[in-house]
Amino acid sequence: KATRTPLMAGNWKMNLNHQEAVVLVQKLAWTLSDKRHDYGKVEVVVVPPFTDLRSVQTLVDGDRLSVKYGAQDVSTQDSGAFTGEISAGMLAKLGCSYVVVGHSERRELHAETDEVVNAKAHKAHAADMVPIVCVGEGLSVRQAGEHVAHTLAQLDGSLAGFTAEQVVGLVVAYEPVWAIGTGEVATPEDAQEVCAAIRARVREVHGDAAADGLRILYGGSVKANNVAGIMAKDDVDGALVGGASLQVAEFGGVCRFY
Ligand code: PEP
Repeated sequence: KATRTPLMAGNWKMNLNHQEAVVLVQKLAWTLSDKRHDYGKVEVVVVPPFTDLRSVQTLVDGDRLSVKYGAQDVSTQDSGAFTGEISAGMLAKLGCSYVVVGHSERRELHAETDEVVNAKAHKAHAADMVPIVCVGEGLSVRQAGEHVAHTLAQLDGSLAGFTAEQVVGLVVAYEPVWAIGTGEVATPEDAQEVCAAIRARVREVHGDAAADGLRILYGGSVKANNVAGIMAKDDVDGALVGGASLQVAEFGGVCRFY
């Protein structure tokens, strides 16, 4: 765990226009520049709506901010007659370092299958961005005790076709759907159970280097006051943060988990 840089990614979802985005990123950069804290050891990423990315790029480049940014989704296609879609090439050109793929809201509301998520992950990777591949079970699956099997099946499908050398640089986010936006946080033990199972599966399929390098995030109602216990777990390398990432003080607190 010590060799993996902690990653805190703020998924803004469909919130903040480009002007509001600039204000939030400026405030965040100000918070992260506070020398009383060792923010330098954490990788901090914001994931705004597509329409904000150009403004965020201009701000980050112009002021040489340490914040990185990514997109919430990407097309499975490179270009052409796909109205409303955004390609990996377009996102890479805007300086995105990361792309969230397979968020539960995409899987549920837009019927994205593991095959679609896998295709998106490959497009992001081929364009030199890191896919943050989201997996996780809903409430009924958890209640049936099938959460590990369900999540590993999603993992296998979503990571199909990646080599061990590629997997080492990927990010997987375990997000139990019942804990997203509900205020219901999985316990650190719940998070560790599934994150450990994910790493074990990667070790089985791709070997030690991939398993030891892969970063696994937990997501689901993470806030400044519950992040430390989750981050203390061996197989949790960071957090994918929704609601709390819209408040700078709260997200700053998450980035200061240690
Ligand atoms: C998310 O959308 O990825 C998420 C974890 O949301 P929240 O933190 O609001 O539960």
